Amino acid sequence: MALIVQKYGGSSVADAESIKRVAKRIVDTRRAGHDVVVAVSAMGDTTDELLDLANEVAPIPAPRELDMLLSSGERISMALLAMAIHSMGFEARSFTGSQAGMITDSQHGAARIVDVTPVRLREALDEGAIVIVAGFQGFNRDTRDITTLGRGGSDTTAVALAAALDADVCEIYSDVDGIFTADPRVIPKAQKLDHVSSEEMLELAANGAKVLYIRAVEYARRHGVLIHARSTFSSSEGTYVLGEGMKNPREAEGAVMEEPIVAGVATDFSQAKITVAGVPDVPGKAAEIFKIVAKSGANVDMIVQNVSATGRTDISFTVPKADAAGALKALAGEQTEVGFQNLIHDDQIGKLSVVGAGMRTHSGVSATLFEALSAGGINIEMISTSEIRISVVLRDTDLTEAARTVHTAYGLDGDAEATVHAGTGR
Ligand code: ASP
Ligand code: MG
Repeated sequence: MALIVQKYGGSSVADAESIKRVAKRIVDTRRAGHDVVVAVSAMGDTTDELLDLANEVAPIPAPRELDMLLSSGERISMALLAMAIHSMGFEARSFTGSQAGMITDSQHGAARIVDVTPVRLREALDEGAIVIVAGFQGFNRDTRDITTLGRGGSDTTAVALAAALDADVCEIYSDVDGIFTADPRVIPKAQKLDHVSSEEMLELAANGAKVLYIRAVEYARRHGVLIHARSTFSSSEGTYVLGEGMKNPREAEGAVMEEPIVAGVATDFSQAKITVAGVPDVPGKAAEIFKIVAKSGANVDMIVQNVSATGRTDISFTVPKADAAGALKALAGEQTEVGFQNLIHDDQIGKLSVVGAGMRTHSGVSATLFEALSAGGINIEMISTSEIRISVVLRDTDLTEAARTVHTAYGLDGDAEATVHAGTGR
């Protein structure tokens, strides 16, 4: 008998029918003899609808009240789910984040979990109940207020519960079948991965893959939680996310796992490029520029500086599209102080990343990427690398074709087209 934590995203509990389907899945797990703890998201688009409502009554809703409002979404789904389980003849008890002992810092809208004290959950489990916990929310001890963990926070709730309860596995259910070698909507020949390392998963998530949230994967990595990302809509197994030294459960069953050099290809259309042109090529200018950008709140990703011939240089960097206007305004405001000549904004870019832990030990991985792009006649505008990732910035109109070419070049294409549900992975 195992202790299994399951997380169901909003699309898995969008209406009464879906809630009953999830309830059945939970009951089946219980019937198999396991203890079950469930973290649940708000139904469908509830969180977005509540946000819209808040913005209708106040231009800048008070953060404390916004958390009170948003946390109610998960209260609805947790109670309905418990009722659905009762009607199948099983004992279930729902708990808010604070009842479940999710202790966070006091930062409304982006709270971090600082402690988990699942006393009431343990009691309920000991009494044979299925435990349902509202995802995405916690409680701060100093302010004694309800907090929320930021969008997509239910993944983190589930992983934190799994860590605190020492669960055998944390199953994250959504409307996609697992982690793929690429987004199947971009690359139809993408294949579901049997497993992926947590460091690869972090790179994939940070570079455009949307199935799992970065914070949840980080938490799992730090606390040694085994994640199994799988679909609510099928019974087939999904993808295991393995932390350091973790054994693949399927390997224990005798399967032999071949480690590919490249785990996947990620695509990201959400970045914009800013070029600060004609920057005096003297010490301290990069520091000045990125201090200004940081102060504007923009999150810088790639940076490239050109060689200077004339005592001036161009510095280009990428930021999320939504941050670009703020960064440009902040830089324009300090043009004379920094002494650059002009600013160029380009939001027609796409980023392609190739991720694989095998890059550490295999040479030629980047050559394969550049050859594939060259054969496709695709121009590269920026390049950046980490130990296990190579990213390039291209024209956005080239990105899909480039991703397909590169996916083929690394031998990642599957024989059949992946089943693509309408899903978004949430
Ligand atoms: N309901 C919250 C959101 O939509 C949390 C979650 O779904 O994980 O962001
Ligand atoms: Mg949601």
